[in-house]
Amino acid sequence: MDTQKMPDSPATEPFPTFLRLPFVSNAKLLDIAIAGVPFDGGTRLRVGSRQAPRQIRTASELLHGLHLKHGFSPLDLCTLGDVGDVVIAPFDQDANLAAIEAFFAELWDSGAAPVAIGGDHLITLPILRAIGRTTPLAVVQFDAHADTAMASPEGARFTSSTPFRRAVEEGLVDPRRFVQIGLRGTLGSMERMDWARAQGIRQFTVDEMYDIGIDAVIRETRSIIGHHPTYVTFDIDGIDPAYAPGTGTPVVGGFSSYEAQRILRGLSGAAVIGGDVTEVSPPYDLRGITALLGASLVHEIICLVAQTRAGRKEGLQPASSAAASPN
Ligand code: MN
Ligand code: MN
Repeated sequence: MDTQKMPDSPATEPFPTFLRLPFVSNAKLLDIAIAGVPFDGGTRLRVGSRQAPRQIRTASELLHGLHLKHGFSPLDLCTLGDVGDVVIAPFDQDANLAAIEAFFAELWDSGAAPVAIGGDHLITLPILRAIGRTTPLAVVQFDAHADTAMASPEGARFTSSTPFRRAVEEGLVDPRRFVQIGLRGTLGSMERMDWARAQGIRQFTVDEMYDIGIDAVIRETRSIIGHHPTYVTFDIDGIDPAYAPGTGTPVVGGFSSYEAQRILRGLSGAAVIGGDVTEVSPPYDLRGITALLGASLVHEIICLVAQTRAGRKEGLQPASSAAASPN
């Protein structure tokens, strides 16, 4: 199978794949597997992010592989493929969380680094269950919300507001190597924020981001995650709704598309071993602007993962990273 078809070639796949990559069902052939998770069962109010994998793949037809700032295409560094979507069943939360975990565990055990297209932010919990089993991961989270609530107002423990509370409780991530960027707005209680800080999570509110500057945010984030295996999770509502209107819980007063890209590019050289883009909601989008932003952020994350994979091939990856890498 030709797994290195250039993204500029005409689309020949039966459905839109990310970046016109080949559809590959055997993840053993891949260094990086792009997977869709059409699940929004963790959303309380405005559902719709289940439609994002298809829309983001379609929007990605506008992109090329080559990244101007990095100076490389991830396809030149390693082997990429689109492995399709996790099969989601209607109204069966337990089965869906198990299905997402099993899907990503199979990718991880096959040696492929996962980059997921959500879906709402609850999908990150079963992904972390799949890949954080042996070594608790460092996390960089872009989000207007901390997602560290104990439960929803109705008492539900598994919603898009709770994934990182559960991930810390389950030991999947290291809260002392956990950075949240973009927090702002209104919230039901301070408990979720106080709890997160008490665990050691570093929270950058938008106010602090603008007080200290983007480059200071990058520097401190780099010092916190170090060379530890790091998962990048990007909730599109971290970005201001002027740039990202198509999302379930928009919060005004966020950072810009470019500031998001600048921070992600500032993670170049960190040991990023996987990531996701969540909470794009096509029913609330305007002319596909948010889907295109989501596709662009997926590409940014793929570049970071590709650097990690290429570095490992060259024997440059730090030992602490190799410990938690696939195979
Ligand atoms: Mn979130
Ligand atoms: Mn959010």
